[in-house]
Amino acid sequence: MKKILIFLSFTLLWGCKEQSKETAETPTIEVSQKEVQKPTNTFGIVIHGGAGTILKENMTPEKETAYKAKLEEAIRVGHTILKNGGTSLEAIEKTINILENSPLFNAGKGAVFTNEGTNELDASIMDGSTLNAGAVAGVSTVKNPINLAKEVMLNSPHVLLSGKGADQFAAERGLEIVDPKYFYTENRMKALQKVKNAPDHPDAKSATSFYDPIIKDSKFGTVGCAALDKHGNLAAGTSTGGMTNKKWNRIGDSPIIGAGTYANNATCAVSSTGWGEYFIRGMVAYDISAMMEYKGVSLQEAASEVIQKKLTKLGGTGGIVAIDNQGNVSMEFNTAGMYRATMNANDELTIGIYKE
Ligand code: ASP
Repeated sequence: MKKILIFLSFTLLWGCKEQSKETAETPTIEVSQKEVQKPTNTFGIVIHGGAGTILKENMTPEKETAYKAKLEEAIRVGHTILKNGGTSLEAIEKTINILENSPLFNAGKGAVFTNEGTNELDASIMDGSTLNAGAVAGVSTVKNPINLAKEVMLNSPHVLLSGKGADQFAAERGLEIVDPKYFYTENRMKALQKVKNAPDHPDAKSATSFYDPIIKDSKFGTVGCAALDKHGNLAAGTSTGGMTNKKWNRIGDSPIIGAGTYANNATCAVSSTGWGEYFIRGMVAYDISAMMEYKGVSLQEAASEVIQKKLTKLGGTGGIVAIDNQGNVSMEFNTAGMYRATMNANDELTIGIYKE
């Protein structure tokens, strides 16, 4: 009898231990995600086309109209997908495709040139319902890098592919491949020459001064999108040519999950644009989500704290667009301007360029 009792209490204790082990190993994030993973019956989308020294005095009315028209065309594509019950991931991809195919923005067709006169493109995408993500860096033959980022997420065991391997994966997956010459635009070539000929071009100086002329003269133009669909799922994506005159296969924040792109159904979806090195050091996109998750603050409070205080104090310039799991939107930047647009479930559209 005594032996049976000892055996029983041992089995009971062992069972408890196993159970608590299971509880301890369950990622808390999954629990909180499930809680919010219910249809919201609302939806929304927000996009950017890059942040930088975008000043009204340097803009012609024709240029301004062209930018606004392309932003509107792109956001309407994503908005229609969401309105018809499509997923936030699909909306992100198709919206970014419009901007990638336009020479106006520094992504896809309009990508900036590297120091060697080539184009190296970066992109990333993240699904807030699973925390799955995909990214590519330094690709040179893929017409729409955001599509490749999605392929990496859905059809590879990896998160980030780079260079030739990423280009090869794109071809294997049947994505549209172009001759690298496709990315040539005269405007971007002129911008490269301007940066190279800048008096303080500092090949020989520090890493920081290397970027000085870029920061002064470049209009940036990275593109990004964050969306909430009717199923309550958030997603974000970013696509870029990087920074004019970049060297040594430099990679910015755009393909870095947590810096350039982040999405979590428990909080928000974010796409960044700006001086990538600072966005990586500040883990800007994730930091906004983390502030919401751990401190319980609103999206706007988190975005303002991270961009206006943390990033600015670090010396970084740029901005973000973001949407939370209730459809609230933030478009926060510390530069003179940021191409941006947003559209909500009531079909209300706003488009902005300068600080207003
Ligand atoms: N963040 C991009 C990069 O550093 C550039 C940009 O957004 O303008 O590559």
